Amino acid sequence: MVSSPAAKEIPSLASATQHFFREAAIHLKLDPGIIKILERPQREVTVQVPLVKEDGTLEVFSGYRVQHSNARGPFKGGIRFHPSVDLEEVRGLAALMTWKCAVVNIPYGGAKGGIAVDPKHLTKRELKTLTQNFISMIMPVLGPFKDIPAPDVNTSAETMGWIVAKACELADDDVRGIVTGKPIEIGGSLGRREATGKGVAVSTLRLLKWLGKDPGKMRVAVQGFGNNGSYTALYLAQAGCKIQAVSDISGGLYKESGLDINALFQYVQTSDNHLLAGYPDALPISNEELLETDVDVLIPAALENQITVANAERIKAPIIIEAANAPVTPEADVILGKRGITVVPDILANAGGVVVSYFEWVQNQQGYYWDLDTVNTRLTMIMHRAFDDIYTLANEQHIPLRKAAYVIAVQRVARALEQKGMFVG
Ligand code: GLU
Repeated sequence: MVSSPAAKEIPSLASATQHFFREAAIHLKLDPGIIKILERPQREVTVQVPLVKEDGTLEVFSGYRVQHSNARGPFKGGIRFHPSVDLEEVRGLAALMTWKCAVVNIPYGGAKGGIAVDPKHLTKRELKTLTQNFISMIMPVLGPFKDIPAPDVNTSAETMGWIVAKACELADDDVRGIVTGKPIEIGGSLGRREATGKGVAVSTLRLLKWLGKDPGKMRVAVQGFGNNGSYTALYLAQAGCKIQAVSDISGGLYKESGLDINALFQYVQTSDNHLLAGYPDALPISNEELLETDVDVLIPAALENQITVANAERIKAPIIIEAANAPVTPEADVILGKRGITVVPDILANAGGVVVSYFEWVQNQQGYYWDLDTVNTRLTMIMHRAFDDIYTLANEQHIPLRKAAYVIAVQRVARALEQKGMFVG
C-alpha cells in the first residue's frame, strides 16, 4: 500500500465514480429517473464501533457499509481496514462494485464497507474483536441473499473467518455464505486468494493478444505487492513478461533484466513486517519513480488516486492496467487518453476477485466444491468474454475502454431496474 500523491487536488472517489457513471448514462440516453436512482447509494450505514484494548483503554472507530444497488442481485463487496476510510471513499467503492459485477455479468449488486483504522496499531486479538463488534452492528443489513462482504485492503481470509463465526452465532444458523474469501476449511473456494491477481494477468494478456504484442517482450512495473499485486506479478512473470519494478509501502525495487518474483514472494513472507525494503539484488526506487518508469505495461495495484494531474504527463508506459480500485483520477484519465495511453479500467481488470467470490457463494449454496481447474477455467472464460465485449464495443464506437465498460455495465443495471417495473404505476 502507498500513500497518495498531491492529495489536495484530488476529487473524492464518490464524485469520480459518479463522473464515469454519468458519462455512460448520457451516452446511453438513460431516463433521468434511472440516473437519479443510480447516482446515489440505496442505503448507507455508519456505526461507531467500540473496542476495549488489551491495556484496558476504550477506543471508538468509525465503520461503514454502503449498499449502492441490488438491482441485479444481492449487494456484494469487500471490507477494508485503512486510516483513509470515510463515507465518501466507501460510497465510491460501493458504486464501483455495482459496475464491476455488471461488467462480468455475475448476479450481484454492489456494496463496500470499511473501518477507519490502521490495523498495524492493533494486536490480532484486538483486530478480531473490532471486526466482530463491527459485524454485530451491521448484521441487520447483511445476509447470504442480502449483502455479502469479502476481503479488501488489509483484510484477508482470516478476517472472513472471524466474520463467519460471529454471523453464525448471531443468526444461530450456518450462514457461512454471508461472506466470501473465507479460508478453504470453512467453505472458501480454491483459487479465491489468487483470483484478483489472476484476473488482472488474464486481462493484461488478453489486451496484448488483441494488440498483437508478445508477452515475452513486455517490460512491466507493478505498484503494490499485497495479495493483488504479488499474484499479478507472479502470473505475468510465468507468462514470460519481464517484471522490472515492484513496490509496496516501504518503497520499490528495480532491475532492468527483470526481478525474480518467486524469490520476492518468499522474501516478503519472511522479512520483518512482510515488506519489500531490504531485498538485496535490486535498485531501490520510490513509489513515485515506479509509476514513471520506462516500461511497456504499468500496473497500479495499491490504493486509489495514484495517477493524478500531478504525474499523468510523466507516465511513460503506453498501457496501464488498473489492478487497484480507482488508481487513476478522472482528470488524469483525460490526460492519459489524449496521450494515447490505453487504460484497462478497474471494473474490468480487477473483477477476477469478485468472480471467484461468486463461485464460492455458488459452491456454498450447492454444498458441492469444485477443483482448482474448474475454478480457473471458468474464471478465465468469464474474464475473456467481458474483455472481448468491452474491447469490441470500444473499437466499434471509438470510445476508451473505461467508457465502453461503463456503458455495458450501466445498461445491464438500468435494464434490471426497468424489468422490475420501475416505470409501471
Ligand atoms: N474487494 C474485492 C474488490 O474490490 C473483492 C470483492 C468481493 O469479492 O466481493 O473487487
